[in-house]
Amino acid sequence: MATDVAPAPGTLAAFEAAKGFMPLEEGLALYAAAVEAGRLGLPLLEVGTYCGRSTILLADAARAAGVSAVTVDHHRGSEEQQPGWEFHDPATVDPELGVMDTLPTFRRTLHRAGLEDHVIAVVGRSPQVARAWGGELGLVFVDGGHTDEHAGADYEGWAPKVAVGGLLVIHDVFPVKLDEFTGQAPYRVYLRALASGAFTEVSVTDSLRVLRRTAPGI
Ligand code: SAH
Ligand code: MG
Repeated sequence: MATDVAPAPGTLAAFEAAKGFMPLEEGLALYAAAVEAGRLGLPLLEVGTYCGRSTILLADAARAAGVSAVTVDHHRGSEEQQPGWEFHDPATVDPELGVMDTLPTFRRTLHRAGLEDHVIAVVGRSPQVARAWGGELGLVFVDGGHTDEHAGADYEGWAPKVAVGGLLVIHDVFPVKLDEFTGQAPYRVYLRALASGAFTEVSVTDSLRVLRRTAPGI
């Protein structure tokens, strides 16, 4: 896979300024995967928009390839992002409703990055959106909920839609348990993908795994 590709300087600055949970090195690996997958001419889809940090990178790659980046989130936050939990940010709470709403911050992020025209934002629950989504995808990036229920449903809902030759990218894969807050559901999803026989590992960058669909099925 090409490692010499880099997002436009403006994109990188927007990425670094954006709120979120994607370190630079992993972001660059995601970007390289998105550029490669873009050659299939199919949409690039992300589960887990949050405030749009990783979306910026998919959008830049989608723009270059002339495809769309699709990003799915209910925008109410994962378990560990709720008030009182490890990754809560009070600025993401809707003051009127008192519940999390990351959609306004996401829209500002994307506008500032100048990438709105290349992104389709879907507000909804990942398994429900997957059931309504008919077509094939060039890339699926799984970065949503971290419980077995959510990560497993993301895999079951979206992995079957990755085209042959397309890429399945999984974030937060930790083969060794880090601490009491960091779960291993994404790691178990990664193992399932490899065990399916349909996906082959392409690259490892910290907790980001890039797999290619090399066979049909699942
Ligand atoms: N990609 C982001 C981080 C995503 S955090 C970044 O680069 O910063 C995980 C996100 O997944 C949260 O915003 C949460 O609302 C969303 N999420 C969790 N479970 C979900 C589900 N079942 N359906 C849709 N979104 C979900
Ligand atoms: Mg993540």
